[in-house]
Amino acid sequence: MIQPKRITDNFLSLAAIDSPSYGERKMADRLTAALKELGLSVEEDGAAEALRGNAGNLFARLPGTGTPLLFTGHMDTVEPSAGKKPQLHPDGTVTSDGTTVLGADDLAGVTILLEALASIREDGLPHPPLEILFSVAEEPYDRGSEVFDFGKIRSREAYVLDLNGKVGGAAYAAPSICSFTVTIGGKSSHAGFAPEKGVHAIAAAARAIDKLKMGCVDGETTLNVGMIAGGTATNIVPDLCTVKGELRSYSHAKAEALLDSVAGTFSRAAVSLGASCKMESRFGCRAYEISRSEPVARRYADACEKAGVQPDFFRTFGGSDANQLNQHGIRSLVISSAMYLPHTCREYTRVADMAKMAEIVRTMMLHA
Ligand SMILES: [Zn+2]
Repeated sequence: MIQPKRITDNFLSLAAIDSPSYGERKMADRLTAALKELGLSVEEDGAAEALRGNAGNLFARLPGTGTPLLFTGHMDTVEPSAGKKPQLHPDGTVTSDGTTVLGADDLAGVTILLEALASIREDGLPHPPLEILFSVAEEPYDRGSEVFDFGKIRSREAYVLDLNGKVGGAAYAAPSICSFTVTIGGKSSHAGFAPEKGVHAIAAAARAIDKLKMGCVDGETTLNVGMIAGGTATNIVPDLCTVKGELRSYSHAKAEALLDSVAGTFSRAAVSLGASCKMESRFGCRAYEISRSEPVARRYADACEKAGVQPDFFRTFGGSDANQLNQHGIRSLVISSAMYLPHTCREYTRVADMAKMAEIVRTMMLHA
């Protein structure tokens, strides 16, 4: 049986632990103990070293018979997160004290998974082999799962509990997300005495940015320049300008083409003013799409209906560990984790919604 009281206690104690990206040590220790208590074997990988954080990804297994199934959540939370103080309200809503995020993203997802595992164990019901992945550093675009050894995973299907919005939600498609940094090198010179001897790095950047189509590039692609820095004094022609941005698209090919085009625009603008230009980029997420008729989607829809919940499939324009899993051939759906207004200090969750999702996850775990 799903136990709302246990969900409440677990969530309040997990959300009270500070667990910023790259600083998930306490959370990893707590979850290792919790998973072992539930009868799972747990191993921690070398992500701490690889990412210069203090904890690795946790990978846990519960033996069973049949086709294995993977469930995941992430251990890190966005800032501001130091000193989180979860507040339980009489109606079962949980918020922060207003000065930090709550961390329901993704500790509600983690709590849901622990509850489903606990109830299965208590009831002694047969189940397939279950695999659990709790990743570190998901928020900085899947840094943790990116270094995970996917060869350890036997499951070919997975559910990522990391979606905001109402119970029953599922994201069947997600975009490629690429972040980039352009460094434009000019030449400094006194702006009053000899401006003609300088090469204006900021002007070159401005020329390029003016030519870029920002915002919605087409129906499934966006581009944004979000940060710009450069110059050292008002009376010096700036010799350096750094521009940071990101682009997203449901089509990976379109994302790659847009990245090429952005690089070309900066390069031409720099050359036209005699400046140099260098671009670094990283695809943190790669686009995927799951069909409603695939077993991984049907299993979720069936479990929702059994719980009296209307399944709601939609596309998300955000990334998650499902991007990494799908890239490694594990068909993955991101499903609701009973979190609302994540990445704000008004973030909240509801005990009843966590309980409902735990019921849905439990059903999927039992009938893989
Ligand atoms: Zn998340």
